[in-house]
Amino acid sequence: MRNKAFGATGARLPAIGQGTWDMPEAGARRREAQRAIARGIELGMTHLDTAEMYGAGGVEEFLGEAIAGLPRERLFITSKVLPSNAAYARTIAACERSLRRLRLDYLDCYLLHWPSDEPLEETMRALRALVDAGKTRFVGVSNFDADEMLEAQRLLGDVPLACNQVLYHLRERGIEHRVLPAARAAGIAIVGYTPFGRRRFPHEAASPDGVLGKIAATHDATVRQVILAFLTRDDAAFAIPKASSVPHVEENAGAGDLTLDAREIAAIDAAFPLGDDGPLATL
Ligand code: NAP
Repeated sequence: MRNKAFGATGARLPAIGQGTWDMPEAGARRREAQRAIARGIELGMTHLDTAEMYGAGGVEEFLGEAIAGLPRERLFITSKVLPSNAAYARTIAACERSLRRLRLDYLDCYLLHWPSDEPLEETMRALRALVDAGKTRFVGVSNFDADEMLEAQRLLGDVPLACNQVLYHLRERGIEHRVLPAARAAGIAIVGYTPFGRRRFPHEAASPDGVLGKIAATHDATVRQVILAFLTRDDAAFAIPKASSVPHVEENAGAGDLTLDAREIAAIDAAFPLGDDGPLATL
């Protein structure tokens, strides 16, 4: 598994982590999904992404159960505060609730889930206070455009803005215009979510004759591994695919050792052009 510097935090994180949105919250599929998370950790996908929003806290409980008993220092756990909780006192309280559901003493990273109507200055002050109190090691934002991201960093003062988590898949590469270059220049990591595009998965290109299928065959890899390798080709970029079965997790972890050459990157770039610049796309 490739590890890279996570912004200016000093931490190194695997290029491929694990998302948790829509994890099955009950029954046999819940247990299988928890086994999948544990298998992913074994394979180096130790960056685990969740949020108070997912299952209204249920997914944090699911994740807390899945990681119970694992060595804490090996894990990198991210959660997110809802914009409706972004006022100072509510952010602090939301973080404490997330910690209880996750059964943790501290988070590794705590993000504002998307821009809020509350003053950004207040949320950033709360995130700083959480760092000072040892409730989270690092803080970040999600779904912020380049200007908003740099403003968040300015408001944090000497606390680094660790990352901006944004939508990034082959058919939605808008962040490459301004968000990714600005993040790279400022020492902020980009964590790309929904790497497989949900309903926009590139099925045609994935056939054996398609551009992704051909590249995958050359490497004895799968199309999903090629997609993840492409999306994490920049030093600043990480991906957090969500998978709820052991075979899916094993496949995704395999992308952590796949590097594409310049011709392969150019072929994918031509097949899935960047498109025009515009407002930041979100899910
Ligand atoms: P995704 O990771 O692009 O796709 C998840 C889907 O792909 C699931 O249906 C999963 O199925 C399937 N899948 C995963 N690996 C597979 C494999 N190897 N073979 C076949 N199918 C596979 O979409 P996402 O869940 O939207 O995004 C990932 C994570 O990003 C989320 O879980 C969440 O943590 C985060 N996120 C953040 C935001 C934000 O606003 N910050 C928004 C959306 C998502 P199975 O479950 O059956 O394995």
